[in-house]
Amino acid sequence: MAKGWYFKAHPDALPTLDHVELRDIPHADLGAGQVRVRNAYLSVDPYMRGRMTKQKSYVPGFQIGELLTGGAVGEVIESKADGFAVGDRISHMMGWRDEAIVDIIPGVNKLPPMDVPIQTFLHNLGMTGATAYFGLLKTASAKEGDIVFVSAAAGAVGSAVVQIAKKKGMTVIGSAGGADKCAFVRSLGADACIDYKAGPVLPQLMAAAPDGIDVYFDNVGSDQLDAAFATARDWARFAICGMIDRYNDATRGTEFNYLIRTIPARIRMQGFIVSDYAADMGQFIGEMGPWVATGAITMNETVHQGVETSFDAFLGLFAGANTGKMLVKI
Ligand code: NDP
Repeated sequence: MAKGWYFKAHPDALPTLDHVELRDIPHADLGAGQVRVRNAYLSVDPYMRGRMTKQKSYVPGFQIGELLTGGAVGEVIESKADGFAVGDRISHMMGWRDEAIVDIIPGVNKLPPMDVPIQTFLHNLGMTGATAYFGLLKTASAKEGDIVFVSAAAGAVGSAVVQIAKKKGMTVIGSAGGADKCAFVRSLGADACIDYKAGPVLPQLMAAAPDGIDVYFDNVGSDQLDAAFATARDWARFAICGMIDRYNDATRGTEFNYLIRTIPARIRMQGFIVSDYAADMGQFIGEMGPWVATGAITMNETVHQGVETSFDAFLGLFAGANTGKMLVKI
C-alpha cells in the first residue's frame, strides 16, 4: 500500500504532527492520461511552509484532508498516457508520497537523457538551480566584476548561487549558520563567508566587503537584508528570493534601520518567483547542464531515508539541518 503525508491543520508557528499525518493512500485505478510512478526522491522546500498558511500566494495552499504535494522524481510503473511508457523517468509535483498517480499535464516532464544522478533534477538541474540562476543573472542582473552577497549560502539555492557567481567572474560573500557551514561555502569558491550565528551580520559584512556590495541575493530577510541595505553600493540590485527567518514567525524581520539607503544608493529591489522564467528554461539547462555534467558545479545533499522521514526532513530546513539540498530518498 502506498503511503503519503496528508494536511490536517494550518500551523501558526513551526508545524508539528498536529498539522500533518502519514497515512496509507487508498488504491485507485489509472484514468486516461495518467501514469503511476514509483518515486525515487522527494524534495522538501521552505516554500511549502507558505502553502500551509491560509494566505493567498503564487501557489495554491494545501487543502485540509488532502495529500501534500511537492517536487519529486521517479520511474513510471504503469501508464495510460500517450508517449509515456513503463521505465520512463519523470519529474512531477506529486511528492510527499512513495507512489503517485500523475496526470500528464504541462510541467510533467521526462528527464533528459543526461548522465547525472536522478535527484539532480530536484536541485542543480531543477527548481533550486533554476532559482539561483535566474535570480542572480536576470532578477539581480549580476555581471562580471560585481560583489555579491548571498544569504543561506550553504543551502540548495545559496550554494548554486555561489558557484554560478564564481563561474561568471564575481566576488562572492556568503552567509551561513556555523563554522562548518562557512567552511563548506568557502569550499564552493566563495571569497568569504559570514557566520551569522557567531555575531551580528553587519560588522562581519563590512569587514568582508569594505567597498560594499553590488548585489544581494536574499534567502533570509531580517538582519541579513538590513546589513545588505547598509553596505549597498550605488545602483545595487537586490533579488528577493526568500525570507526564511520569518516563515514560522511573522513578527520577525519587520524593522530595518538601513532601509532608507535605498534612496541615496538607488537600490533596485525585485522579488521573483522561479516560474517567472519558465520560458527561459532552455537557456538554463543549456548553460547549467554542462557545468553540472562535468562536475564544474556541484551539489552537496542531505538525504533522509524513507517517506516516513519526509516531515522531519522538512522541519530540518528551519533548523539548518541541511548542507546543500535536503532530499528524501524512497
Ligand atoms: P535551503 O537549502 O537554503 O535550506 C534552508 C536554510 O536556511 C537552512 O539550511 C538554514 O541554513 C537557513 N535558515 C533556516 N532558518 C533560518 C533563519 N531563521 N535565519 C537564517 N537562516 C536560516 O533552502 P532552499 O535553498 O530550498 O531555499 C532557500 C530560500 O529560497 C528560501 O527562503 C526559499 O523560500 C527560497 N526559494 C524561493 C524561490 C522563489 O521562486 N522565489 C524558489 C525556491 C526557494 P543555516 O544553517 O545557514 O542557517
